Amino acid sequence: MFNLLPQQKYNKFQLLINQINHFHKIISVYSDHDLKLQTQKMQKLLMQGFTLDEILPEAFGTAKEAIKRALGIELFNVQILGGIVLHKGKIAEMKTGEGKTLVAILPSYLNTLNGKGVSIITVNDYLAKRDAELVRKVFQYINIDVGLIQQSMNIEERKMQYRCNITYITNNELGFDYLRDNMAINQSDLVQKEFHFAIVDEVDSILIDEARTPLIISGPSEEKTNKYYISQEIVTKITKNIHYDVDEKTRNVILTEDGIKVCEQLLKTRNLYDINNPWIQYILSALKAKELFYKNIHYIIKNEEIVIVDEFTGRIMEGRRWSDGLHQAIEAKENKKIQPENLTLASITYQNLFLLYKKLSGMTGTAKTEETELDRIYQLEVEEIPTNKICLRQDFPDFVYKNEYSKWKAIANECLDMYKIGRPVLIGTTNVEKSEFLAGILNELKIPFNLLNAKPENIAREAEIITQAGRKGTITISTNMAGRGTDIILGGNPHAMTKIIIINYMKKVLKISSLLCSNSASTNKKINLLLQELNYKFIKTITSLETIEQYIEDEINSINLKNNDMYTNIQKVYLQILHEYKHICSKEKTEILKLGGLHVIGTERHESRRIDYQLKGRAGRQGDPGSSRFFLSLEDNLLRIFGGDKISKLMKVLSIDNDTPIESTILTKSLDSAQKKIESYFYDIRKQLFEYDEVINNQRQAIYSERKRILQSNFTRDCIIEYGESTIDEILTTYNQQANYKKAIISKITHLLNLAENIEIDTIINKYNKEQIACFLYEQLRITYDLRESYLEQLRPGLMRQLEKYYLLQQIDKAWQKHLEKMTLLKESIGWRSYGQQDPLVEYKNEGFQLFITMVTYIRQTVVYLTMRSRLIINTVNQDR
Ligand code: ADP
Repeated sequence: MFNLLPQQKYNKFQLLINQINHFHKIISVYSDHDLKLQTQKMQKLLMQGFTLDEILPEAFGTAKEAIKRALGIELFNVQILGGIVLHKGKIAEMKTGEGKTLVAILPSYLNTLNGKGVSIITVNDYLAKRDAELVRKVFQYINIDVGLIQQSMNIEERKMQYRCNITYITNNELGFDYLRDNMAINQSDLVQKEFHFAIVDEVDSILIDEARTPLIISGPSEEKTNKYYISQEIVTKITKNIHYDVDEKTRNVILTEDGIKVCEQLLKTRNLYDINNPWIQYILSALKAKELFYKNIHYIIKNEEIVIVDEFTGRIMEGRRWSDGLHQAIEAKENKKIQPENLTLASITYQNLFLLYKKLSGMTGTAKTEETELDRIYQLEVEEIPTNKICLRQDFPDFVYKNEYSKWKAIANECLDMYKIGRPVLIGTTNVEKSEFLAGILNELKIPFNLLNAKPENIAREAEIITQAGRKGTITISTNMAGRGTDIILGGNPHAMTKIIIINYMKKVLKISSLLCSNSASTNKKINLLLQELNYKFIKTITSLETIEQYIEDEINSINLKNNDMYTNIQKVYLQILHEYKHICSKEKTEILKLGGLHVIGTERHESRRIDYQLKGRAGRQGDPGSSRFFLSLEDNLLRIFGGDKISKLMKVLSIDNDTPIESTILTKSLDSAQKKIESYFYDIRKQLFEYDEVINNQRQAIYSERKRILQSNFTRDCIIEYGESTIDEILTTYNQQANYKKAIISKITHLLNLAENIEIDTIINKYNKEQIACFLYEQLRITYDLRESYLEQLRPGLMRQLEKYYLLQQIDKAWQKHLEKMTLLKESIGWRSYGQQDPLVEYKNEGFQLFITMVTYIRQTVVYLTMRSRLIINTVNQDR
């Protein structure tokens, strides 16, 4: 049915779109030079007081023309609409292949005109690079610089990239840079700018799927790892349903009374829960590792290390670790080296990271199902953007089989049928194991295929495989969403194919040249290295024609094989092949269109409907024909765990044989409701994570802003004096008691602040009231401080400032780390405690606040204590005081 809503929205903005196109028409006759001047012109308008909204039509019109000149592409009206929605700080839901990369250019151009930076967030380094390179060509026409941050970059490089008008970066790098900036000791180490405006690509993947795992920077602690191995051994000796129960729904394990006893016996301990020698956490983690976390599903082993595979995205999460000892338990299970327990030095959830932006927007093909969450947590509204051409994809009803075996058999048959007629097929599987299982079946049937899953050897070819997935007779098995961001083009991508040829060509040319030029071993070695790298480069990045030309030229220069003829030759060959392939691909496309376009096969309903939609969305791009069908079985996890008895009864009643699929509304409804149940279950988890992190987030903001103030200050004296005065005030609040007590308080202050020893406490107590004492102590604080400063300055000018900064930052960091640890413990213990009517979150907030106050007081006191006692040690013998 035709969806009216998006069309209405479209109409709402029609006037604005007309204005943009009107400006575009005017600008389209400008010379390149005049087009460049547009940026200056609009910056001036902003300075004169015009608002971004007021200059939007002209800015968008300008960007549209730049896109046309740089890429020869004329934006569709729906893309302009997408750009408007992004500028308004909302999520633009645009289907795959609608050209989101180019859409982002419009709002990022407009929003950087006021001199502030715009971040474009992507899910991986490859996409960041690919997109940055593409848009850079566009922005060259309008004098805007585009930065790109890659994982391998150092501080200096990062700084430069952040300084650009628009910066492409992954969510991971953005988060870690934020945490690192807030741990920096020198101002010159800060890399990030103000969080002004961000456009998040694949926004659901980043803000929903990844939001379950916080980003953590950690340092090693000295925890013993032996307990993990022992627990691992113990859990192999105990039995499910006798010694422990597994709850698959909540992914939890509980020891039974019997289980506790057996474990205690095996461990020769009296109490598993003993605070001084706790075992329970280790045993539970080992049980979880045994029962709930499987190799090639939840994790893979890469270079002898356990690497998490994100269940939703199918991507590996390099460098991330499960918390609470689970990662170590899995390491023990797989008999790998156990990485030491990590101490959290800094952490943040994506929810709170992205909320740092003053304006946030996002784009994706699938956000509608998560609308509520996006709105509640991020205040992001989702706007559906109509497709440029009507979507012709046919989504066939699910086929449900009795058991998994019959299901896979049917899938393989479907592949075979499609392969025979040459129709390209994309098969989505939910995890690495299943993708390999299917690969095995296809191998037996002698059906050629490409396999794309989180295994490193496959990931390297991700983009290449996806670009070719639309070729005739190509069968692609992929774990969910792998290769997201790369469009499947029917008939194949001529640019990508030409690159394969050119690389091979390069290899030959270089080999011949090396023979002609020199026979020296070192040149050969260098050429071989170059070839390897070229190959790698190609595989990692499908670069633009210019980039590859540039690259080839650079490399030739660097190995002294400069040969103009050769370079021109390469260029010529490249263009010839491209021409040829364009022809081949377009012919192939016509054939495939006749066959019905890309056919997508789903092999299981995913835990979230969104992921299924993403898979289906691969077919039928830009008005192409296409189809999709899901093959399910009653043994699938979703049905087994969440489907309930209704379905198995139904199957029995229907007494259907194994190979006959059933299509039934009851089944479809049960499946839909099971998916919704799981979606809301995960939503609750993320909401809870968010609510708990919100408590820490407010504290983090306070600490980080204080830290930044100190880091950026050149005159920390005021800060120390302020800390000293606050310390005096805090301790004096308990004043007003009897004489002895008064005396103790004053001497505590004078000791802590190292105030002059000749203060006569008795006289003070008798002479002054509380306020006067405070004033007196403030005065003493200043005098003592000045004395210390002049003493240190005499020894080494500037020393006092350095010391102050050092103590301040060091103490804040130390205390914050300890505080994070305490907050984690608090959260855990509140979970265990039973509060009757009380809300654990409220308890957590209250106790967390107390802990925070204690930490702040502690920081002030120690900093002042240390500063007031600072001295210079020249060497161990000649100590100065
Ligand atoms: P999405 O991220 O929405 O799936 P991409 O940004 O990857 O889509 O773009 C898909 C393809 O469509 C790219 O090859 C791009 O060059 C092309 N494209 C984008 N916009 C247009 C347009 N207006 N006209 C023609 N091709 C376009």
